[in-house]
Amino acid sequence: MPQHKRDYYEILGVSREATPEEIKKAYRQCALSHHPDRNPGDKKAEDKFKEATEAYQVLSDEKKRGVYDRYGHEGLKSSGWEGGGFASGGFGDIFEDIFEDFFGGGAGRSRNRPGRGRDLQVGVELAFEEAAFGAEKSISLRREEACSGCRGEGTKPGTSRTACGVCRGSGQVQVSSGFFSISRPCHRCGGEGSLISHPCPSCRGSGRAVIERKVQVKIPPGVDNGLRLRVTGEGEAGVRGGPRGDLYVAMTVKPHELFTRRENDVLCEVPVSFAQAALGAEIEVPTLTGKAPLKIPAGTQTGKVFKLKGKGIASLNGRGVGDEEIRIFVETPAHLSEKQKELLWQFAAASDEKTQPFSRSFIEKVRKIISK
Ligand SMILES: [Zn+2]
Ligand SMILES: [Zn+2]
Repeated sequence: MPQHKRDYYEILGVSREATPEEIKKAYRQCALSHHPDRNPGDKKAEDKFKEATEAYQVLSDEKKRGVYDRYGHEGLKSSGWEGGGFASGGFGDIFEDIFEDFFGGGAGRSRNRPGRGRDLQVGVELAFEEAAFGAEKSISLRREEACSGCRGEGTKPGTSRTACGVCRGSGQVQVSSGFFSISRPCHRCGGEGSLISHPCPSCRGSGRAVIERKVQVKIPPGVDNGLRLRVTGEGEAGVRGGPRGDLYVAMTVKPHELFTRRENDVLCEVPVSFAQAALGAEIEVPTLTGKAPLKIPAGTQTGKVFKLKGKGIASLNGRGVGDEEIRIFVETPAHLSEKQKELLWQFAAASDEKTQPFSRSFIEKVRKIISK
């Protein structure tokens, strides 16, 4: 490899504004002329081929290209995208991708390789308390599984696949194009190398079936609206022994009649009577785990907030618990009886500046502004 790393755009001979199509085309040209199969024993050609492939791996990936454009080779190195050689598997995929449209068909062996199953996503609605304390949910979903009639083989039970006559079981046929030839998947068997002459009656040979499943999902305490939970290995079945995909559970939380949430704190608005607020009182307030006593001092105003430590929601990362905030509002008495009215008139007559300090300071402020 060269001592000094060359610029990727320079290697492929494209401008920095090149479109993905132009980059692909440029790489294909480099790859075709420097491919080791066409230049046996030529170390220089091999290096050039590797260099071009590396450049293409970066410039064909939107994210990596962005990092390279901004920070150069150093940026890729610190993102772990450069210096460790090619990612395993990436090389073959690139090659297939590049030659696919060139030869008008897939160049690869991907059709008979094991494949990971697809990921699935389901939505689940949680009660406020379930989000706060966690829950065990049973989620119904339809997903692709290996057919139970043929265990995913696609063949009628008791029969087996027969070797393909076109490719003689290899799954590949050679196609010549000018100087060199390339393998393509066999058109008869689709690259499988064998054919199903007696398909399984339940899946008609596909080996797959869509089945309704119930999946038990453990929701951890502290989740919130809009969060997605990944359940590993509960997506669709893989093909040819490949791993299952994952299941994503998107959560929405139903609103609560009494509580609202602010991160891990729980907020609750509590009405108290005019007399309780004026004289002070011991009241009971709701919390997520039941009732709790709360002492209201004499002269409490609307909007006063009392904090109940640790009565909120556990944080999702396991660090700490939120609080509950009780916000008081003083309820003005309504539908008064004659007797109550009389008492209040007497009360009003006995009231003075001392009993209404906020009113007094308000009136003073107004006076100052008006007299200006
Ligand atoms: Zn074949
Ligand atoms: Zn079947």
